[in-house]
Amino acid sequence: MATDSGADLRIPQDLLPDDGRFGCGPSKVPATAVVRLAEVAPRLLGTSHRQPPVRQLVGRVRSGLSQLFSLPEGYEVALGNGGASLFWDLASLCLIERRSQHLAFGEFSSKFAQVVQGAPHLAAPEVIESAPGTCPQPHLAEDVDAYCLTHNETSTGVQCEIVRIGLPGQLVLVDGTSAAGGMQLDAGAIDAYYFSPQKCFAADGGIWVALLSPAAIERSARLGSASRWIPSSLDLNLALQNSRQDQTYNTPAVATLFLLVQQLEWILEQGGLPWAAARCRQSASIVYGWADRVPYAAPFVQDPGQRSPVVATVDLSPEVPAGEVSKVLRRNGIVDIDGYRKLGRNQLRIGLFPAVEPHDVARLTQAIDWVADRVGVANRL
Ligand SMILES: *Cc1c(COP(=O)(O)O)cnc(C)c1O
Repeated sequence: MATDSGADLRIPQDLLPDDGRFGCGPSKVPATAVVRLAEVAPRLLGTSHRQPPVRQLVGRVRSGLSQLFSLPEGYEVALGNGGASLFWDLASLCLIERRSQHLAFGEFSSKFAQVVQGAPHLAAPEVIESAPGTCPQPHLAEDVDAYCLTHNETSTGVQCEIVRIGLPGQLVLVDGTSAAGGMQLDAGAIDAYYFSPQKCFAADGGIWVALLSPAAIERSARLGSASRWIPSSLDLNLALQNSRQDQTYNTPAVATLFLLVQQLEWILEQGGLPWAAARCRQSASIVYGWADRVPYAAPFVQDPGQRSPVVATVDLSPEVPAGEVSKVLRRNGIVDIDGYRKLGRNQLRIGLFPAVEPHDVARLTQAIDWVADRVGVANRL
């Protein structure tokens, strides 16, 4: 019986990552960005969001994202308060006209479907499900006006290819929350690609950002002027009008905007989305390669093509309880690699966003090996 076999395990220094944050959101915020925030703080924090210092930040978010995603002509960037979860509510009012189709294959993709199922003004959505660890396919349907996809299902570590689907007049709405900034995207394939900044963009949460196509902007304007009641904080038209003036409808978290801009401009300097995506793939190949190699671990997602480059899920064999491993790691400064609670598997889940150093990912696997050796042995005794 090993109740707390690892209470006094001290992982050797040379196996420890320089930074132990591997969470899937909130995720690692680079120390350099925080230092810079402290430097500019006297002129930025605690100043009006209607004045140039903060408005310039919003402007840099908008222009930087347009550049990062090579947005086609007519696409715009909008932002507001409330994170990706709020955007689901907003989309149910401003982007879905009557009926939507959803791919549901994990916690986050299912939540959007549930929002729509609860919306009294919408028809029951078509929900296409697949087992956790896999990704279902959308299919053409004449009676829907929006396809709701998820680029990366953060709860299971499954990535989906985003390709344009639909007939003229139908919208493609994509939850890019954990993918945006770490996975390639063809912006021409989406009408709305929305995310929160606490994942690949290494900031705090609380804000939503959306890349919008002309068709999405047109839909939102039309629904907004029709008879549907849309509360102001959920009004995409109002958010877009404010965004166009480099503002937000109500007061944003200024420090979060600053951190987002730091990460965005850093990624652009390094080589943009191709660079960030390659870096995440490199980190992912370290984790999946390790999980394939060691006898007590295996990648959870069976199809290698569906394994996420930004969120790696790894099953452990029963004699190495993930909860014990993660507890020991936490005591040694490596945090937040527990599997998704509701999935209920003996699993580790590792955030591999661009801020995470591939070198640290390699160290992490060595640290896990070291702990698993000791925890596993203790459990066999
Ligand atoms: C984290 C996450 C969300 C929720 O983001 P919040 O900012 O907490 O609302 C939604 N979808 C996906 C895919 C996520 O990873």
